Amino acid sequence: MKVRNEEKFKGRGMRMCRICGTSRGLIRSHKLYICRRCFREAAKSLNFKKYG
Ligand SMILES: [Zn+2]
Repeated sequence: MKVRNEEKFKGRGMRMCRICGTSRGLIRSHKLYICRRCFREAAKSLNFKKYG
């Protein structure tokens, strides 16, 4: 039983970094939708602990 929530976001430009627009190394955890590179910067503002 797979729940494909991703289907909702197809074609809506949500599967890419909302900061720099890249789709590489995208982090979808916490509904951030940002790449690992931007995550480091965002983590400072969002006060996240080190990811993985
Ligand atoms: Zn980015």
